[in-house]
Amino acid sequence: MLRVDLGRLERKERVRVVEALPADDLRWAEIGVRAGGPLEVDLDVTRVGRDVLVRGRLRGEAVSECRRCLREVRVAIDETETVLYRSGLTAVEAEAEEAYPLPEHEPELDLWPAVREHLLLAAPEYAVCTPDCRGLCPRCGTNLNEGACACGAPEPDERWAALRGLKLNRGGDGGGT
Ligand SMILES: [Zn+2]
Ligand SMILES: [Zn+2]
Repeated sequence: MLRVDLGRLERKERVRVVEALPADDLRWAEIGVRAGGPLEVDLDVTRVGRDVLVRGRLRGEAVSECRRCLREVRVAIDETETVLYRSGLTAVEAEAEEAYPLPEHEPELDLWPAVREHLLLAAPEYAVCTPDCRGLCPRCGTNLNEGACACGAPEPDERWAALRGLKLNRGGDGGGT
């Protein structure tokens, strides 16, 4: 999976890698992303002198949680990927040049680390189900998108009242939350 036979690439100059990473593949867990379906990988691998250039597209879906109401949110992943594997570089040099070191004496090139890095950037750590999601009531946990709770919706003047309350408390013996 996601490996390029470097001998074959040498002969053909260009290899296309088309694969689907299943949603239950353990590599999703490795990057802490829950997949909503397979990741479609379509990469064009070309030899450029002694280096290897990988270009293509990653398409799939990540499942996240709305940070306000905790509802499941599906986020489309549609990324173009361009990665250069440079020959004769150490890992440190490669990092400085924003490239990957091309393995010198190995039969295969593993594309997963580069794909993984890209997915990590593409998959949102925090998501919001809709921009105007009202979230959960901090007191009783009611989903305020579905209606108000018994605690009462915080109207603007009630908020001011709450602020005044805070100021009064500050004069006392301090107070936690
Ligand atoms: Zn939400
Ligand atoms: Zn409430």
